[in-house]
Amino acid sequence: MRPMLVADHQVSTSHAAAASAVAAASPFDTARMRQLGAAFFADHNPTPLTEPHWIAHDHPTARALDLPAGWAQDAAWLHTLSGNPGLPVQPMATVYSGHQFGVWAGQLGDGRAILLGERQGLEVQLKGAGPTPFSRRADGRAVLRSSVREFLASQAMRGLGIPSSSALCLIGSPTTVWREQAETAAVVTRVAPSFIRFGHFEHFSAKGDIESLQQLADFVITHHYPECLAADEPPYLALLRAVTQRSAQLVALWQSVGFCHGVLNTDNMSILGLTLDYGPFQFLDAFDPAHICNHSDTQGRYAFNRQPGVVYWNLFCLGQALLPLIDDHDATVAVLEAFKPAYARAFDLAMARKLGFSEADPSLTPLYTSALELLAAQRADLTLFWRRLSLRAGGSEDSAQRVQDLFVDPSAALVWLDTFDRAHAQLSALSQPISMLRTNPAVVLRNHLGELAIRAAQGGDFVPLAQLHRALDAPFDEPLAHPEFTALPPDWAQGIEISCSS
Ligand code: AMP
Ligand code: MG
Repeated sequence: MRPMLVADHQVSTSHAAAASAVAAASPFDTARMRQLGAAFFADHNPTPLTEPHWIAHDHPTARALDLPAGWAQDAAWLHTLSGNPGLPVQPMATVYSGHQFGVWAGQLGDGRAILLGERQGLEVQLKGAGPTPFSRRADGRAVLRSSVREFLASQAMRGLGIPSSSALCLIGSPTTVWREQAETAAVVTRVAPSFIRFGHFEHFSAKGDIESLQQLADFVITHHYPECLAADEPPYLALLRAVTQRSAQLVALWQSVGFCHGVLNTDNMSILGLTLDYGPFQFLDAFDPAHICNHSDTQGRYAFNRQPGVVYWNLFCLGQALLPLIDDHDATVAVLEAFKPAYARAFDLAMARKLGFSEADPSLTPLYTSALELLAAQRADLTLFWRRLSLRAGGSEDSAQRVQDLFVDPSAALVWLDTFDRAHAQLSALSQPISMLRTNPAVVLRNHLGELAIRAAQGGDFVPLAQLHRALDAPFDEPLAHPEFTALPPDWAQGIEISCSS
């Protein structure tokens, strides 16, 4: 019997001809993934969208992939990225398992994501390109609404400097998809150095296929964590340590900007510490630490303030899966327990930067903690508070009043502002001050902004989507042409219900 790891507590046109033109010019490569062997994937072609049309493009991702100039106007690329077969390489879907809402869910896998292959060391997946052997009777499709959200969220994260998969483009189609009602289908082409998840490790470990588990761990170490081979501890333990550290840093960044993922199942946890699988996520408006953004999450397992604890729990699932390779229970637990100080350090640093300092300092902890308590008590807008505070620190006219305007009872805010000013005066000599305007975004992807872009796109107008995408690319700049992107959310924003349905 393997020992069980126990977490001690929760921490707070001619389609074929067009496609082959792309293939001849720029094939994807599946050779690296194939090294893993047949147990890891099923060869599977996408199901093409009917009458595909471009909706949006992301040129930085295209540059990272070294796509040819003009790809975004090229019908051949449109057909390839909307699932039209005809590539000389065989696309594939990978198998994984996972814990969903804290319960072992068994085999899941890429049910609607198909890997075209790699390019420039990046995996390129089509999300919503039809059923795969892992679709479990679902349709393998994604609706326009959720695809717009994934496209925009990927951009929002890059703009904020938070690790994430990226989205190359969004393609729509009149193909009907049934959710609670009839909707239209879309495909997002998403890109990451790897889409391997905790759930891939859990899959082979749960089956007792230790040979495959080891092959997977060796693959991930060789291609993504080569430093683990030179560590002064066994490589599999070093891998768990590295993933633990990256995950702690990731969730600390989420908490610092008010990002709630919504479905932090272990199959949505990237082995590279990337934000992955955008579903019912939300950037908070009014600061409610216990906010639940996923309408389907009735127990609030994935509430905003539970995210660090959930990531820690998920890391225990990964540790449990790796235990047959590490074969040292105590060392495994010690590495996992290092999540807590790593998270605290990363969050301290992120909050110090929001307060205008390049480094964390113990005196800043009560300062940001009291700010968050004040924001929570008065349900003040999180993003606007930090941004207006930054404008005030920069001496911008009226900005002191504009901070107070965010509070129902401004007197408590005035007391806090006074403490902030004194702390700044004292600390500026010790820690290098940095521009708060570069650490507190003017624009985040609020639900209602996404919703407005979705409604326009559903009506065939893709301009609002492109405008928002551009603003999210430079979230620390005031979007002068779009003051609505930096305004308080309208009342109807509170009524937006986002569920797992996508
Ligand atoms: P998610 O909650 O989106 O991360 O999805 C959980 C699992 O369900 C993954 O294995 C997905 O591939 C699968 N899945 C979600 N939606 C669909 C769909 N429409 N068709 C097929 N599989 C799906
Ligand atoms: Mg998923």
